[in-house]
Amino acid sequence: MSASLATHEPSAAFEQLAQQLCSAAAHLAQRGWTPTTSSNFSARLDAQRIAITISGRDKGRLTPADIMLMDEQARALDAQRPSAEAHLHAQLYRVLPHAGAVLHTHSLTQTVISLHYASAGQIRLRGYELVKAIEGLHSHEQDLLLPVFPNSQDMTAIEHRVDAWRAQGQPLHAYLIAGHGLYAWGRDVAAAMRHLEAIDFMLACELELRKLPT
Ligand SMILES: [Zn+2]
Repeated sequence: MSASLATHEPSAAFEQLAQQLCSAAAHLAQRGWTPTTSSNFSARLDAQRIAITISGRDKGRLTPADIMLMDEQARALDAQRPSAEAHLHAQLYRVLPHAGAVLHTHSLTQTVISLHYASAGQIRLRGYELVKAIEGLHSHEQDLLLPVFPNSQDMTAIEHRVDAWRAQGQPLHAYLIAGHGLYAWGRDVAAAMRHLEAIDFMLACELELRKLPT
């Protein structure tokens, strides 16, 4: 009998990836970016399988037992239920071939600024040295344009927003969902973490700048 993809067979590769996701989640939870049981984290295991957090777990106390496998259509490959937003992760893996990890958080900064810019539909980060932390950007003279999509409980609606943004030829380094949080990704967990933290920092700067007299 051949091994089935529908069977989650623990492997060293899975354990290592799951541990990386747990460490990232613990760090982000400690920063207060994963209130209640929000936020979700994933990483590509191989061409067919994605490791992702199981729905509803406290992200500050994850162990590899809280990580499951799904396919690129967000179908569970073991007897667990993935995070509610698994479809958004799956879409990113389908459309961004270099994405090896996707991290999604609900920090205070992400929530506030995404509501503030919801009607504008985007935030342009300009003049930041830290933009160089984003893969593909090499100078503070380059802008980072982040879309702000309307929130929805229908993941398909958000997926359509992502598709529409890309169809316009706009670069997509990360995106915000209004009143909700940030999706960031990278070629591996470390790169996704760097992007997430750099973008959150620049967004926090934007909020600070707004407090200053003009
Ligand atoms: Zn969320």
